[in-house]
This record gives sequence, structure tokens and C-alpha cells, in this order.
Amino acid sequence: MTMAVQGNPLDQCPDGENWFGMQGFGTGQRAVPGDASVGRFPTRTVAIGPMAIGGGRPRLLQSMVNVSPGEKDRFLRAVDRLLAVDCRLIRLALANRRDLSNFLSLLRFLPRDGVAYVADLHFGSELALAALDVCEKVRINPGNFGIFRTRPWREYDNASFAKERELVAGQARTFFQKAAKMNRAVRIGCNGGSIAGRMRWRHGDSALLASMEEMVAWAREVGMENLVISLKASDCRRTVEWNRMAVRRMAEFGWDYPLHLGVTEAGCGVAGLVRGAIGIGTLVSAGMGDTLRLSLAEAPEREVEFCRTLLAFLDRYPFPPVEFGKKSVAIVDGCADLCIDPCASDRDMALLGIVHRILSAPQLRTVAIGRGRCEEWRREVVEWTLQCCGWGNFRTEIIACPTCGRTTYDVAAAADAVRVRLGNLPNVRIAVMGCVVNGVGEMGDADYGYIGCGKGRVNLYRKGICLLRSVPEKNAIDVLEEWIYSDGKVCGRL
Ligand code: SF4
Repeated sequence: MTMAVQGNPLDQCPDGENWFGMQGFGTGQRAVPGDASVGRFPTRTVAIGPMAIGGGRPRLLQSMVNVSPGEKDRFLRAVDRLLAVDCRLIRLALANRRDLSNFLSLLRFLPRDGVAYVADLHFGSELALAALDVCEKVRINPGNFGIFRTRPWREYDNASFAKERELVAGQARTFFQKAAKMNRAVRIGCNGGSIAGRMRWRHGDSALLASMEEMVAWAREVGMENLVISLKASDCRRTVEWNRMAVRRMAEFGWDYPLHLGVTEAGCGVAGLVRGAIGIGTLVSAGMGDTLRLSLAEAPEREVEFCRTLLAFLDRYPFPPVEFGKKSVAIVDGCADLCIDPCASDRDMALLGIVHRILSAPQLRTVAIGRGRCEEWRREVVEWTLQCCGWGNFRTEIIACPTCGRTTYDVAAAADAVRVRLGNLPNVRIAVMGCVVNGVGEMGDADYGYIGCGKGRVNLYRKGICLLRSVPEKNAIDVLEEWIYSDGKVCGRL
């Protein structure tokens, strides 16, 4: 379904939520699954092999296989586990030609009915072109498409900007032309951690949005319209803001591409779930999103299960718009505006219930944690909810990549070990990443980085600079701890 939107109705909508002035949109009225006329950002249908997203369909859940296609048995078992939780859009990382040919040889063992496979690619364009021959959908990253090394943004000038742009444009047009001809779907997947230096130099804070618009424009030039858009960050605030802006810009241009929602490198445990709940839940409650993926550093099927619970919860209890960073909320003992008592339902539902109660209390200044069952767990959920909304600062921000076929070590275990040792440091941000290929870019503005570089070995970063290479994993947290102490960052409840 295509719906051209005239003007920018947001100008008449000070709360920024009632995107299209549609009755019921952003006012708490729920979208009826499958009914595009009520409450959903109207998008076209994008066909992905036997699947389709957009056009008001129920939101499709997806996840990513975290095993290389070279490991045949493990890869097939990982796909089976995703199918067992009814994940029908399955992504896989392709690092090189070998991965692609390994996947091709596995296709005869994989179900093809009612399931579509999505290639996830970074850098260069040749592999992306080849992946179109094999996969129903290809995800490209505008931040590194066509270029193997993006320069620091300060090094650009008009001439180098134009030269690189021309190079990328040529490769993008060729890629989109083939995608259109083969009727493939393409996701233009923009990540806050991998914005091209050229775009930063030219567009500053709006570089991510400009990257998306530039790619879409090149696709449209060659008649490629089977597009899905995503804009992700590892924090909820930027994820929500970027998607709000993307919808606003799409409305201005009359574009109607489905949105893939997600919080990237959300991490693990309560922090990852709360980040996902707020980042994705706020957007879904405002009528956005046609497909979801929460990037947890946990089993891929866990992502699917949590997103399914989240959608079911939001259907009954949509989240209100969040005013990120606009107030400060304290956790107190005794009398408070809101008391979080033990709750009876299962853990995920209980977590969503706590998040919902906090977001729905507009005058909230104090929260108390009632005594009793799961007290520490409830405190953690409350702290993360407040921290994700920018209403308090309680714990170390640990971002961890969701892992993929490029991972060389147990990221979830490492992230958990970092959390146990260094988890109570407000104002410290640590990134735990699976590989050096994208990890360096993806860790963005972390204070410290822990990036796998081979079996049992990691590179350690401080303020984006690699200071120690190939450190045995067993010593890595000691080094981080030493750096944190020597940087004078210990001010929490350690
Ligand atoms: S950092 Fe590397 S291993 Fe982790 S998800 Fe990104 S590409 Fe995969």
C-alpha cells in the first residue's frame, strides 16, 4: 500500500507523536494487527521471498544466526532453534565469499517454505552483489558500503567528499539495479556506530539520517523500491529520536518504506531487556515498525521470545511517549510517588509491567522498591529504566554486540564477567564486542572497549584507541579495572 503524505503534519503536533494527524494515532488507541487504517505509520508491502512485511501486516520478528555458515552442523541447529520459536526472517552474517558459498551449499538442508534468509554485509559491494543471487533480502550498511576504510571525518574536504561519494554512488546504483531486477528486498541498515566519515564531515549530527536518505535516493534512481529502513543506536534515546526523525523525513518526501526497529548491541540481562523494551516499545506504541529485532548478547531465540512478549504486552498496555532526560528521579526508602512491589507474573511480563508503570507516571520524582521477593531484581529493573530514560544514573553502561558468524569468543560470558566486576560505575561506558571487523566502529563512544581478536584473546581500547593487543581473556578485566581506577572513574557503589 502506498500513501503519499502531504506536507508535514508534525508541525501541527507539538508532542511529536501524532505523526500523521490520523485519528487515534499516538493517542493510546491500539493498532489492530493487519489493519493499516488505524494507528500504524502507513507503509508499503515489501516482499521478501515467501514472506512480506509492511502494508499494515502484523510485525514480523527476526533474529540472526550467531554461527558461521562454515560450521555446518552448528549452523543448521541454530536455524532450527530459531524456527522452533517461529522466527521466519533469519539473518546471517557473511564476512566473505567463503561464507556465501558455504551458505549456498547448506540451502538444500534448510526449509524454504514460509521462511526467508537475509544476508548481512558490511564493506565493499561485490559480496553484496553476489549475495543477491542467494538470499531473498540483503542488509547493507550505508556507513561502510563500498568502502573498506572510512577516514576520520576531520580529514575530508570538498574534493575528497565528492570523490568518495561518486565511488559509493556508482556501486550502490549497480547493486540496487540488480536487486530491482531480481525482485529482492534490501534493508538500508544505518547504525550510529558506523557512520561514514564523509557524512559526518558534511552533515554533522544529522549524518545518520542523511546516509539513509542518500542511499534511498540512489535506490529510487534505478527503480528499486523494495526497501526497508532501519536506524539503530545502542541507547534508547537516540534510537527513538532517529526513528522519529526518519518518519518525519519520510512523510516530507512521501516515502512509505517499512521500518525495521531495533536497539543494537543492547547487551544482556536486565539492561538489554529494558533497553529493548523502551527503545522498541516506545516506537511501536507510536505506531511505527513493521519488523523487529532486539540485539541481545544472548541466544538469538531469546530475542524473538522477548519481542513477542513485548508486542503482546504493548497490545494491551502501550507505552506513553517518553520525555528523555527531562527530569531526575530518585530511588528512596519509604514514602515515594511510586512503589514497585513484588509482582506475580513471569519475569518478562513483570519487567515490562515495571517499565510501563514508571513511564506512565508523568509527575514521578521518587520510586521505592517494596520489600520481599526479587527485591534486588526489581531494583535493577527500576535503575535501568530510569537510566535508559536519562532520569538517573546508577550503573555502568555495558554494551555488548549480539554476536554473529564473525564472533571468535563467548561475548555473553565476557559481558557478564565485566558486569559482575565493574557493573556499578555510573558514568562509565564499556563495550564488549565480538570481532575487530565491526566492533571498533560499533563500540562508538564507549570509554573502554573489549574486542575479541582470536581464540581467548582480546584487544583493549581506551577512548577509542587500542592500547593493548592480544591480551589473554583471563587478564583483560584486571587491565580494564586498573585503567578505570587510574582514570579516577570510581565513584559509584563499588
Ligand atoms: S561486533 Fe563483530 S561479532 Fe559482534 S555483531 Fe558486530 S560484526 Fe558480529
